[in-house]
Amino acid sequence: MTTVLTLNAGSSSLKFAVYTSDSDQPLVTGLVDRIGTNATLKLKDQRGFDLPTKTDGLSTHQEALTSVLSAIEPELDGKTIDIVGHRVVHGGLWYDAPVMVTDEVLERLTTLEPFAPLHQPHNLSGIKAAKAAFPNAPQIACFDTAFHRHHPYVNDTFAIPRAYYDKGVRRYGFHGLSYDYISGELRRIAPTIAQGRVVVAHLGNGASMCAIQDGKSVASTMGFSALDGLPMGTRCGQLDAGVVLYLMDQEGLSAADISDMLYKKSGLLGLSDLSNDMRTLEASDSIEARQAIDYFVFRIQRELGGMAAAMGGIDGLVFCGGIGENSAFIRDRVCERTAWMGIEIDHSRNDAHEQVISTEMSRTTVMVIPTNEELVIARAAREFTDG
Ligand code: AMP
Repeated sequence: MTTVLTLNAGSSSLKFAVYTSDSDQPLVTGLVDRIGTNATLKLKDQRGFDLPTKTDGLSTHQEALTSVLSAIEPELDGKTIDIVGHRVVHGGLWYDAPVMVTDEVLERLTTLEPFAPLHQPHNLSGIKAAKAAFPNAPQIACFDTAFHRHHPYVNDTFAIPRAYYDKGVRRYGFHGLSYDYISGELRRIAPTIAQGRVVVAHLGNGASMCAIQDGKSVASTMGFSALDGLPMGTRCGQLDAGVVLYLMDQEGLSAADISDMLYKKSGLLGLSDLSNDMRTLEASDSIEARQAIDYFVFRIQRELGGMAAAMGGIDGLVFCGGIGENSAFIRDRVCERTAWMGIEIDHSRNDAHEQVISTEMSRTTVMVIPTNEELVIARAAREFTDG
């Protein structure tokens, strides 16, 4: 039996899970948060119960991983980690599927750091830390861009001079592991819809939408970076490039200042002046919080129309991500002016978070499917060892 460790390394966090080859239920899951400052390590067992942990001196990903390994050891029941699967944000033009990380692959992935400077270096730190901890275990990289790699040219390019397309300035799209999982679940639970035209709305702290036709991504709201498309917790979403030029020329902001603003201070947080957390905004009665939600909903509705247009229609709409899975209020708002797309919500099903939340009469089936990016990584890693 193979034991897989999955790692998702962010700038100051490390999410992890351990799976065995005979089950899709993790043996243990957890998260190290705030690496380098006030780190905390949270660990849950198979039944989702919290386990005790120690959190001294976690100032690097390497130290965080060492603590994770000693914390999970009692849960492994003598099993050793055979293979490690990593979430990597960018696979560039090279990778449309998971890949075993050799020195050459790692070098290639490093050249993509300028394409995703806030994510890729941390993902690669996770790989280096895992290589040091498990020198004999294969490391498998699973890419957020891979699911979108075969977009038609019109959904892959920007209308800027052609040479930049050739240099890799393209619409890559992200959240691919989540879309891959939802596609697989659709094939299992709603095969007819899976063969049709589906829009998946991954609405979490990061948010994007994907048009999926016959199981393949044809368009994504995210483009060159994870900034484009929908407004997110702290990211701006779609923005006129002229705003960036204005901020540089007239306000004297540097590229670093603008990056900080667009990635960390915009989106729901920037609009509400209150929080990036949808629960806080829903509970607030401030006008700004309401306007932030209104903007979020409106941009989802606009993109929904665009995604359906990209496929010549829509047969299914799936909500996932922290907001999509848990907020009946946002799902209801998104669907309130979409009758023209054949969408009709059953409010009691929606309030009960049922899997299908549309009415029997709705021409488009609307579903809520909890996503599971870790499981996609674990399955991909298992395939490398199981043949
Ligand atoms: P994620 O990044 O997928 O973990 O999603 C995080 C987002 O989901 C945050 O904005 C949370 O406020 C939001 N969220 C989680 N649970 C709820 C809920 N019950 N109602 C509204 N938003 C929620």
